[in-house]
Amino acid sequence: MENRLRELEKLALLDIKAVSTQQEFEMARAKYLGRKGAFSVLYKELAACSPQERPALGQKLNKLKSVLEEEFKNKANVLSRGSCQARQDTFDATMPGICPLVGKTHLITKTIDDICGIFSCMGFGIVEGPEIENEFNNFEALNIPLDHPSREAFDTFYLDTENFGSNPQARRLLRSHTSPMQIRYMLEHKPPFSIAVPGKVFRPDATDASHSFMFHQVEGLMVADNINFANLKWILFEFARKCFGSAVQVRFRPHFFPFTEPSAEVDVSCIICQGRGCRVCSQSGWLEILGSGMVDPNVFKAVGIDSDKFSGFAFGMGVERIAMLKHGIDDIRLFYENDLRFLGQF
Ligand SMILES: [Zn+2]
Repeated sequence: MENRLRELEKLALLDIKAVSTQQEFEMARAKYLGRKGAFSVLYKELAACSPQERPALGQKLNKLKSVLEEEFKNKANVLSRGSCQARQDTFDATMPGICPLVGKTHLITKTIDDICGIFSCMGFGIVEGPEIENEFNNFEALNIPLDHPSREAFDTFYLDTENFGSNPQARRLLRSHTSPMQIRYMLEHKPPFSIAVPGKVFRPDATDASHSFMFHQVEGLMVADNINFANLKWILFEFARKCFGSAVQVRFRPHFFPFTEPSAEVDVSCIICQGRGCRVCSQSGWLEILGSGMVDPNVFKAVGIDSDKFSGFAFGMGVERIAMLKHGIDDIRLFYENDLRFLGQF
């Protein structure tokens, strides 16, 4: 056995010397020190030797094993230094760096922040409400009774289609506008107050370039004693100037909403053609941006506010529409497709 040990030492040292890659290193290590390697065979043979021979042979075997382990360790150091050197050799300081992808605020979030920022500067508190509402807050309290023809204008996702208990007003739905938050706020607060409410709304519309089953609105409400239409006009003028630029013109058109009386739709002079007429404004020179009006006394009645003592105005706008007008975007679906080539532009 002693001869075989000397032979093994010679061969192993030659093998280790010849190793030049990580793969060769692993193979050589397995050949000698692995579970099925030369040493494992020798230890088995040692067990079969006579008790007199065993201690001396065992010592020699252990010594050779530690010599080879040391050799492998040295070789591993040499190989790892070599690969560092190789990396340094291929590093080119003149190559352009890899630019990490940095996230940014989505255009819809940014537009909501801009709109709320403008109202916040004018003293409005920013509040948010739940996306799951009940019929009372979404319709009844806003002067839209079940049998009212205007209810048909509000197609709605209902969550409870039947068995909604003894109180039909508790029937749950996905809110079809942010206006129910007016009701929630007025039920819990006493005037005076002014709030802006950003949030998601849902309507079962077929998706196309200008419709989506989910979009965003910002709602506004101001209630105090002696609030009048002139206050509404000033606030919305101020908003339009801050949102679209100081040169923008604003006009009010009479309209109908169940929850306001009188009601008006608000247009701004087309920001693409400055009012001369173009494709975006259908040659009219005007773009509709929001609906507004004085809070209907029936709404005050539903929340227990005395309409002889207090008056107020409300308005609501579509966030996607504002963003599309401001940035010349012609398809609402672009906001939700998450194409970074589109989102990265804003
Ligand atoms: Zn135009």
